[in-house]
Amino acid sequence: MSMNTQGRPTRIEHDIDPGGYETLSGSRGLDQAEPLLFERGSLEVTGVDLPTPKGGLNRLGTMKREGPIGLPGLAEPEAMRHYVRLSRKNYAIDLGLYPLGSCTMKHNPRLNEKMARLPGFADIHPLQPEKTVQGAYKLIEELARWLMVLTNTPAVAMSPKAGAHGELCGMMAIRAALDARGETGRRRVLVPESAHGTNPATAVQCGFFTDEIPADKTGRVDMEAFKAKLGDDVAGIMLTNPNTCGLFERDIKEIADLIHEAGGYFYCDGANFNAIVGRVRPGDLGIDAMHINLHKTFSTPHGGGGPGSGPTVFSEALAPFAPLPFIVKTADGAQLKMAENDGDADGEARPFGRLTAFHGQMGMFTRALTYMMSHGADGLKQASEDAVLNANYILARLKDVMTPAFDGTCMHEALFDDRFLKDTGVTTLDFAKAMIDEGYHPMTMYFPLVVHGAMLIEPTETESKSGLDRFCDVLLGLAAAAAAGDADRFRAAPVHAPMRRLDETRAARQPVLRWTPPVAEAAE
Ligand SMILES: *Cc1c(COP(=O)(O)O)cnc(C)c1O
Repeated sequence: MSMNTQGRPTRIEHDIDPGGYETLSGSRGLDQAEPLLFERGSLEVTGVDLPTPKGGLNRLGTMKREGPIGLPGLAEPEAMRHYVRLSRKNYAIDLGLYPLGSCTMKHNPRLNEKMARLPGFADIHPLQPEKTVQGAYKLIEELARWLMVLTNTPAVAMSPKAGAHGELCGMMAIRAALDARGETGRRRVLVPESAHGTNPATAVQCGFFTDEIPADKTGRVDMEAFKAKLGDDVAGIMLTNPNTCGLFERDIKEIADLIHEAGGYFYCDGANFNAIVGRVRPGDLGIDAMHINLHKTFSTPHGGGGPGSGPTVFSEALAPFAPLPFIVKTADGAQLKMAENDGDADGEARPFGRLTAFHGQMGMFTRALTYMMSHGADGLKQASEDAVLNANYILARLKDVMTPAFDGTCMHEALFDDRFLKDTGVTTLDFAKAMIDEGYHPMTMYFPLVVHGAMLIEPTETESKSGLDRFCDVLLGLAAAAAAGDADRFRAAPVHAPMRRLDETRAARQPVLRWTPPVAEAAE
């Protein structure tokens, strides 16, 4: 296999390339081979042509650079082409359906981008005098107000910068509340086995330990097992609703009551809020804290490293422990509290501290509020309903060929297991790789862990019926090919992608993050 200097396979092998030969350039049509910037450029040349400064006084003293800077020199068009070529290897929500379950990869309206780029929002700095950023504060308060209205909760911390960060925020508030009650022995957190990995990770990070609740036959919390786990060492439960199997936890009110009776708190993972906005208010279901992934539910961009935004709402019981700055509901809207007991006459606030230096992700706030206001209350509700309708359409079209993990309808995502691939020699991973050859980003695979060979498909509300039909036709075609014994095609896939199967485990365990000049040439 052809490898670059970093030991990465760079090309499709010609014997499996349907083109039948290896191209001289390594490019395949418009899919152009692209080496690293360091391999393309040269350390000896520079892309800029500035005269050496004459007679300047060097004030760097011992800090003066002695060797060359070690960056590759490229002319502007070469640098530009490098990044454009890389961008063309990316799959993006603006390119095609992105059916990753649990991730809610929905369209990011351009209106959001336009608003976020207004200089009054985009070009301000958190250290500016407060009186010059009142508009930004108003925007944060307005967004906070909508989040409190949609969830029916009295307080929200806007600063968490992602869902996982919001979980940290909520669990730290729970810990602070328990400590304030003097109950330092409550350290057990109940987590359903279908939970997202960030839930147990967060609990442990906050000094709790987790205790797993099994799922019942329908894919929901096993209520008998849950009741058996309640006790006076229980700090709370972390539950996602709809859960990661795409199912509504019907017993959620009873779960909330029982956890409260046992003296614990209810952390709700709100990553799947997109399925219920405008239909259900989590505050009415008895939650004490819940993060909202603005980058999922409210259409702000994500993937490729963010930035995300994970505002966390609180119940009456936990509101006093919310981190600074936090926002509370007032008679005429919402008010940003910047300091402990800031305007709090009865001195109830006992914030656990700060999570970030400033207020959170201003750009995400602007996008999310734009999305809310452009949809209106009825539009937000319809978006949730359409997301659920789309997922059920996929479930209905595929369920006789692929095997749904659970009976009945689903919420915003449809979950299949790998029973339909039994005895075909094709695995969930092979199936997903074959989708890449068909031009589709694969669905979420092998998650949730409770389902064997899981395939979790979330179309979101932004896909049209014809788009969903094309997608379903491809999946049905692939399932038929697997059933017909065409396993080789699946094992070879992808053959049309810039890269074939990479050693993903090695890439994760031993990432090569630094370029080193080829040793042999350097020695010559
Ligand atoms: C996405 C997700 C998270 C984590 O959110 P991030 O913003 O990626 O940190 C947590 N739980 C569930 C169920 C999710 O889907």
